[in-house]
Amino acid sequence: MINRIKKGSKEDKVLGGLFGLAVGDALGVPVEFTPRGELKRQPVTDMIGDGTHGQPPGTWSDDSSLAFCLAESLCRGFDLHDIAHKFCRWLDEGYWTPYGEAFDVGGTTEEAISRLKEGVNPVEAGGRHEFSNGNGSLMRILPLAYYVEKMSQEEQFELTHRVSCLTHGHPRSQMACGMYIRYAINLLRGQEPEEAYKGMATEAIKYYSRLPYRCELPHFSRILEANIRKLPEESIKSSGYVIDTLEASLWCFLNSKSYEETVLKAVNLGDDADTTGAVVGGIAGIYYGLVSIPECWINTVAKKDDIIDLARRFCKCVSGF
Ligand SMILES: [Mg+2]
Repeated sequence: MINRIKKGSKEDKVLGGLFGLAVGDALGVPVEFTPRGELKRQPVTDMIGDGTHGQPPGTWSDDSSLAFCLAESLCRGFDLHDIAHKFCRWLDEGYWTPYGEAFDVGGTTEEAISRLKEGVNPVEAGGRHEFSNGNGSLMRILPLAYYVEKMSQEEQFELTHRVSCLTHGHPRSQMACGMYIRYAINLLRGQEPEEAYKGMATEAIKYYSRLPYRCELPHFSRILEANIRKLPEESIKSSGYVIDTLEASLWCFLNSKSYEETVLKAVNLGDDADTTGAVVGGIAGIYYGLVSIPECWINTVAKKDDIIDLARRFCKCVSGF
């Protein structure tokens, strides 16, 4: 039934985005924290198990779990309290985890979830310190692109920032999510990668030239100069810092010609391999579509049928906007 999906259809793009993210995540899980030099000698070429977290092949992590929680919540409309509730259930009950337990939790996300449980307002729960700019909100934001696609640009940025603030409230994290979502939307609208990138950069410079974002713009200079593709690999970092993840994702996507090439390039950068894989996997899945993701990888993904079911429900919901 999955192979009867029409290429370029909304379903293809929703399933492509969600599976693209989960497959990229799962490819990176076994090599998370592995140095790049080691992966140069022995690169990831397929879905493997064990490694860093000792999990079976096809195991996705917090990135996909929280993205699925977000998609699940958006099926019932936009409600930050409901998204927050699902994040808490993920950590406490293993909701939307491959095997019933969260095994990979970022520090900033964990602290924010504690605050959410104490009843702190969701938009105020995320860390606001400059050092709270890990990639923890960027890695899970993708489903929002489908939900806000038809809204005004102002609303797109605003809703994206609010969803980031659940765990990551610093303007830099909000902006990284805003740029990523704008890029995903341009791809959803059928633009080519370079055109979508240049458009996003122009839109972002215009929108973020206001307070409190303006003073953060220099941190995004390599992205917003719109020539990240030309930078040498040695200058692309793949740490857990939100700017590094956004840069690495754009660099991998713009320098590749297929879904497979994109995600393998990303995880083989090493370090925060699962998150770079997830972040770029989502946009590559939207652009190339579900059919471009190797079938053997999709078949290995944990809870494949649950993801298909979620994507179908989510697709119906976002098609209505
Ligand atoms: Mg992870």
